[in-house]
Amino acid sequence: MRDPRYDILFEPMAIGPVTAKNRFYQVPHCNGGGYRDPSAAAAMRGIKAEGGWGVIFTEQCEMHHTSEITPFIELRLWEDKDIPQLRKMSEKMKSRGALAGIQLAYSGINGPNLYTKEVPLAPSALPIRTFTNDPVQARALDKTDIKDLRRWFVNAAKRSKDAGFDLICLYGAHGFGIFQHFLSRATNQRSDEYGGSLENRSRFANEVIADMRDAVGDTMGITLRVSLDETIGELGFSNAEVRDFIEMNKGLPDLWDLAQGTWEDCSGPSRFKEEAAQEQLVRGIHELTDKPIVGVGRFTSPDVMAKMVKTGTLDFIGCARPSIADPFLPNKVDEGRIEDIRECIGCNICVTGDMTMSISRCTQNPTFMEEWRKGWHPENMNAKGTSENVLVVGSGPAGLEAAWALCRRGYQVAVAEARSEIGGRVARESKLPGLSAWGRVADYRQYHLSQRPDVDIYLESELSADDIMEFGFENVVIATGATWRRDGVSRQHVVPMKIDAGMPLYTPDDLMDGTVPTGNVVVYDDDHYYMGGVLAELLVKNGAKVTLITPAAYVSDWTNNTLEQATIHARLADMGVDIVLNRGVAEIAADHVVSDCVYTGRTQDFTADAVVMVASRQENNELFDGLKARESEWADAGIKSVKIIGDANAPGPIAWATYAGHRYARELDGDDIGDDLPFRREITELAID
Ligand code: ADP
Ligand code: SF4
Repeated sequence: MRDPRYDILFEPMAIGPVTAKNRFYQVPHCNGGGYRDPSAAAAMRGIKAEGGWGVIFTEQCEMHHTSEITPFIELRLWEDKDIPQLRKMSEKMKSRGALAGIQLAYSGINGPNLYTKEVPLAPSALPIRTFTNDPVQARALDKTDIKDLRRWFVNAAKRSKDAGFDLICLYGAHGFGIFQHFLSRATNQRSDEYGGSLENRSRFANEVIADMRDAVGDTMGITLRVSLDETIGELGFSNAEVRDFIEMNKGLPDLWDLAQGTWEDCSGPSRFKEEAAQEQLVRGIHELTDKPIVGVGRFTSPDVMAKMVKTGTLDFIGCARPSIADPFLPNKVDEGRIEDIRECIGCNICVTGDMTMSISRCTQNPTFMEEWRKGWHPENMNAKGTSENVLVVGSGPAGLEAAWALCRRGYQVAVAEARSEIGGRVARESKLPGLSAWGRVADYRQYHLSQRPDVDIYLESELSADDIMEFGFENVVIATGATWRRDGVSRQHVVPMKIDAGMPLYTPDDLMDGTVPTGNVVVYDDDHYYMGGVLAELLVKNGAKVTLITPAAYVSDWTNNTLEQATIHARLADMGVDIVLNRGVAEIAADHVVSDCVYTGRTQDFTADAVVMVASRQENNELFDGLKARESEWADAGIKSVKIIGDANAPGPIAWATYAGHRYARELDGDDIGDDLPFRREITELAID
């Protein structure tokens, strides 16, 4: 039964000529699949429809071939040929009464056109602004171009209608959409009627929306997504100007979709941004317009959501990541199953699928983007196979996810954990600065496992191969994790490096166990994800003077993909960490490290009282190897299968571990597929000539 406190979230609301059944609004979000994996992306949206969302949007959709953002893989609506794949998506979105929305993007100063080879068009002639500093400049739109662009928007709107959508979102946020490029004095330096005053800078948006209303406005709602503050300094479209713009153009779109700053600002990870972080920027805007407002803020708590609506801050609760981590969030609130909500941890692994042009994953929801590829449903498991029970060794993210998915299939499950607490690396890492939300990976699973009669958890139970042979479980899955290496083996050193035993040396595991060195500490980061930067923070907080040396050109290099690299650098610099880039550590002596330049090899000494070695991790696979060595005894012991998963198999980010745990559970007792591909894929239709 629904808690009446949340009734307000289920009140229908009109957006122009269409009405949303509730206030749960899945704002556009990328998924790394886009035009390359249309059926996978469509099925993912279909799952959100099943989960109860009132509004479901596509990711950004390039609306004309003169503006595209290769290498990133989004959607395309360049010609009629693109309509069927988008119709497939809209039909899935509408299958349970949600409104289907398409986000039309003309990327202007943000689109390098690497694929179409067209000359980019933007309000002013400036270099293209992308993550990759492409050596391409845009030509300024002349009056004829603006007329053409208006017509292209109308064409795209008509095609969107044909493709079955109810809503169009015009993208003008995150620095990515032409509407923002016209509105901002930084990217609009025109001296004609489209530049200068705010009224002039608003002209393009007004013209396009008027054209669209004429074309499709009788049946489709038109929304405008703008940034609450461009956050690029004085010339940027500031929060004060955004308010002036909205007040001046009160009824312009049918709904204001308010995002924040750059994408990095808007989708900041939990390490740097709390839930509802944009509240201050959005508060009061409602009074400036009579149109509804949607805003985001990694909302996972229905109390916070209800408060946003009750206080008149927002009309719709915009969610991207919370809808990825739990596509069934609205239904769970509706059914009074708050404790079942799988909360987003704000790690931004989902974003990496887009940034690496692969396909997205989610740490909390391993079924994300596997709904069609593997037929995985986030709430329903496949039926149990022929065997009855499973012993899971290790309670990290791999072991916990395996246990949770296995018991839902109907297996009797036992989990053995060597330590006195559950959660493996997640329990340990969530105690590091900024990572507390990551504990949700373990908390969610621990709570649910504790409610099940078919799962037993044994703490302080370090198992040996002998123990396992004696227990006689039919299936054994080894999820014993990995240990940070002490010998420096990673990318710079593929064999152990020279280390003087006189230098106190610590690994991330030592620090997580509570031994944190002080004095002059060198952090050698050849891992390149978050750990080196996080430990530098921990060390400074503990009083150390820290020098972080990394062979990469960026501190915590891979976090460029999680949209937090610049924030990490700023945080560490502000804390006084000496950041040394493009240098490795050739050798560790008793009282200093010898650092070598990655380009010239020239060396420089850094004195140190201690070194923290953030290299690679070694799989804890001895137990698995021990059992494998006794394979001939398995049948007598009643064992049918022994598998190894997660970090024990091959160390990776936490999302890799939950995926491995889930996959193990799905595939247990499954048919042998031989050499077949373990997922479905789509290939481009071959042209006839
Ligand atoms: P993953 O990320 O693959 O889930 P973790 O390192 O997070 O791996 O978790 C592995 C867990 O397995 C740790 O909590 C560790 O204490 C536990 N573990 C390791 N070896 C054994 C063992 N022999 N018996 C029981 N638990 C073990
Ligand atoms: Fe949230 Fe991380 Fe999942 Fe993204 S990958 S939805 S940030 S839990």
